[in-house]
Amino acid sequence: MNKLKKHQKIFVNRSLNMASIRSLGFDMDHTLVLYNRVNFENLAFHETLKKFIANGYPEELSTLKFDPNFVIRGLLVDRDRGNLLKVDAHKYVKVAFHGHMKLDKAQRSELYNARGFKADDYLTVDTFFALSETQLFIEIVDYMRRNPGKIQKTFTEVFKDLRTWIDLSHQDGSIKTKVLMEPSKYIVRDPHLVETLVKLIDGGKKIFLLTNSDWAYTNSVMTYLLDNQHEEFRHWQDYFEYIIVSAGKPNFFTGSNPFYEVMTDNEGLLRAHRGPLIAKKVYHGGNANLFEKLTNQKGDQILYAGDHIYGDIMRSKELFNWRTLLVVEELEEDFKKTEKMQPEFDAIMETIREEELLQSDMQSLRSDISNHERRQKNKHAKKEQESKFLGKIAELRVDLKAKEEQLEAVHKKIKELVSAREKAFHPVWGELMRTSLEKSRFGKQIESYACLYTTRVSSLRFYSQGQKMRSYRDLMPHDL
Ligand SMILES: [Mg+2]
Repeated sequence: MNKLKKHQKIFVNRSLNMASIRSLGFDMDHTLVLYNRVNFENLAFHETLKKFIANGYPEELSTLKFDPNFVIRGLLVDRDRGNLLKVDAHKYVKVAFHGHMKLDKAQRSELYNARGFKADDYLTVDTFFALSETQLFIEIVDYMRRNPGKIQKTFTEVFKDLRTWIDLSHQDGSIKTKVLMEPSKYIVRDPHLVETLVKLIDGGKKIFLLTNSDWAYTNSVMTYLLDNQHEEFRHWQDYFEYIIVSAGKPNFFTGSNPFYEVMTDNEGLLRAHRGPLIAKKVYHGGNANLFEKLTNQKGDQILYAGDHIYGDIMRSKELFNWRTLLVVEELEEDFKKTEKMQPEFDAIMETIREEELLQSDMQSLRSDISNHERRQKNKHAKKEQESKFLGKIAELRVDLKAKEEQLEAVHKKIKELVSAREKAFHPVWGELMRTSLEKSRFGKQIESYACLYTTRVSSLRFYSQGQKMRSYRDLMPHDL
């Protein structure tokens, strides 16, 4: 398994035996179907922007530019203040922007770090769909900052408008129609997807599709993706034992909606459904409780793969004990950079060791000084010894001063090295799963909720159907 490159590996937070998994479920968007993110997000950005202008926002906004690299997943949006935040695993705001203006340490402290930080007060950028809308929000906030008074609304109101119009862009087809008209521009085919699905089926697993997308969109996209790619599975539906569209996750895991059967040969009309789910039919809505009952499966026999930590992973794991595989597509880029940046990382670790050594030297110097001072002050000490002590103390102080200066230089060096490394990952936000050298909030969430994570579902092809996937995260720091 060591031969695998990092981006091909599946990482394990919670051990899992593939042999005890009976079925594997897949989310569709950004899990089975990968999008050309630049084209797709650019489209969503501009379609939504058009709605802002059509609804009375200044015409000038049409000059706003989409930047595919500005926002990353895991950031938090402070809707009321128009700020974008990167938070570490301890809820400390490490980086913050108001529009494109970076907030300094004092501002961050006043707004966030000096008071109890409740992450729930903010919106997490946790889907790819949210990247373009967040950027649009930040661009409008920045426009308002540069042009006071031109938009007579609060940031909260602007965000509300944004939500309405982005939802409308998804519903009224302004995005979907364009995707379906030119699928090759927007959808990326993973060359190993077919092989992966066939391998799972040959290994005795049942696979199912559980998506929030509606039937018409699902059918069109999956047809483009999977039809006529394999002799035995000519039609995309042939791969899946169960197909559930418009699932409404995460409510699928918390609610009690009934299943409807989708009349696929009758324009997708819905018919109420009773009794067990029938393989190869298409269902709409439903809930996880009923799904388990109707398919006669228990939670821990199901492995579900999705890209949305909240919609796909958290609730399915917490409430139903489904095993979970999170797809973190953008880690592939981070991994490439990690590999390239290994010498820089080694330099950081080396400098940290230097820092530890200096600190320990300084500690012994300080205790030497205080011991000598104690002896010198001792009233029984002889006069001639006193000057000896004083001389020694002065000597030790010179040493200590030198070490202090060295330590300061080492601190500065570590700061510079860490900051250079962060900038190499992302000029604004640094590494996806880290803030400086610590875990980011997003990294911590992945660790807590995803049993497994990987860059693409096709990594599953490298693992056998009976594979024991072991977690090493329960090792303590002293075990390493
Ligand atoms: Mg998805």
